[in-house]
Amino acid sequence: MAENLKVFNPYEGSVIAEIDQDTPSSVAAKLSLARTGLIKMRDLTQQRRAEILNKAADLVSKYAEEFTQILVMEVGKTIREARSEVARCQNTLRLSAVEAIKLRGQEVAFSAAGHPNKQGFYKLVPCGVVAAITPFNFPLNLAAHKIGPAIAAGCSVILKPASATPLSGIKLAETLYDAGLPAETLQVVIGPGSTVGNALVESPIPRMVTFTGSKTVGEEITRHAGIKKIALELGSNSAVVILSDADLERAAKRIRIGGYCLAGQVCISTQRVYVEEEVYQPFLDLLVSEVSTLKTGNPLDESTELGPMIEGKQIERILSWIDEAKTAGAEVIMEGKREGTVLGPWILAKVPEDQKLIKMEAFAPLVVVNPVKDLEDAICKVNDTCYGLQGAVFTKDLKKAFRACDGIDAGGVLVNEVPTFRVDLMPYGGMKGSGLGREGPAYAIREMTEEKLYLFDLS
Ligand code: NDP
Repeated sequence: MAENLKVFNPYEGSVIAEIDQDTPSSVAAKLSLARTGLIKMRDLTQQRRAEILNKAADLVSKYAEEFTQILVMEVGKTIREARSEVARCQNTLRLSAVEAIKLRGQEVAFSAAGHPNKQGFYKLVPCGVVAAITPFNFPLNLAAHKIGPAIAAGCSVILKPASATPLSGIKLAETLYDAGLPAETLQVVIGPGSTVGNALVESPIPRMVTFTGSKTVGEEITRHAGIKKIALELGSNSAVVILSDADLERAAKRIRIGGYCLAGQVCISTQRVYVEEEVYQPFLDLLVSEVSTLKTGNPLDESTELGPMIEGKQIERILSWIDEAKTAGAEVIMEGKREGTVLGPWILAKVPEDQKLIKMEAFAPLVVVNPVKDLEDAICKVNDTCYGLQGAVFTKDLKKAFRACDGIDAGGVLVNEVPTFRVDLMPYGGMKGSGLGREGPAYAIREMTEEKLYLFDLS
């Protein structure tokens, strides 16, 4: 028997739940069950799968307050952030239901290859068992982004939530059962990524591993998965460029949110800001006045905007990176006060480009603001990283906006919006070290199905 997993409230440090963990034999049993789940799935028409997903969305809406409380307790999200994730989860499930209805293949024109007597088409068939591994920061909506399209495609799923935040994923699975999903088609496994997660990755049963998490673990997964489909949604150090003609006030207001929501622990958090020299100081002044109004503290308080980090050791990590940057000559413009696991907002300026605060994913309530000569200088700096999830530019000049969109190497480039913006129907995913494949139900379902050819010779 594996030891129970203790789940902590990051703000108070108290234990909020103790749950059973899986063992290698229980993981193997759940994988076998998921394989039989594929047969159950075959009996569910596309219409029925859509009904289940829509019903689950209705139930998430009905129990929204419970889901919200779980997210506040296990992730330390502010109550407003938690409500937003619960609403997004409903949307993701409904978007998946739409995809279940739309799913279809296409005719293959054998006549165009000189075979008039052959007719055929391909169907989009479920790829098989999907192993879904999720991170701590959006444990509900990111689970929905994997489970929703997998059910829509007709796959069965094994979910491995992050050990720090497993409760909302477990509740989502229960909600799907209540909505009519056969239990065999969705299993949850609990336990450390290095053992329980790796057992899923190495098993020959899943046909696909869909992973959201850090680049390091993503690389580990690619080394162990073997012949499987792999989707990787990894980290980033997202950058925004502010040109001299930009609406500086709007940019500062949006970065106030993009840099500090969920204490910066968002894969598309606004981390690096490159500002054209002529507006550098006025922009910095505006940003300081915006960010200084952020209210930090208890995530359950309706007015809190910046809550705790997931654990104290993440604060120690980022403070050591800040010290290194200071020693290298960076200027501290705003220093965030530490109270327990809550770290106030930081702004650093003129951080040398070789520093961890630039090169690596900060994942903390911190924004770096550096001056650049012009757009081309900014594009070079934005791209000088192993990551490429989303980037952004603020400008009123359409030509420069297009140049930035073309020049920035990222899965998405946003104009007059922070890179932190995401709605669930977008194609979402990274270039370079930020990953492989795209999420958003319409795109994820492509990865979770395979073209199967049907050919009829009529001669
Ligand atoms: P981790 O990479 O540490 O963990 C993610 C998941 O992988 C957890 O469930 C973890 O389990 C599991 N895991 C760990 N090691 C292995 C392994 N060897 N084999 C299989 N599974 C394993 O990420 P965090 O939870 O710390 O989340 C933060 C990261 O996620 C950031 O880098 C962030 O950018 C990224 N992210 C990316 C998003 C995107 O869409 N691109 C969205 C949200 C976050 P356990 O918890 O038990 O260790």
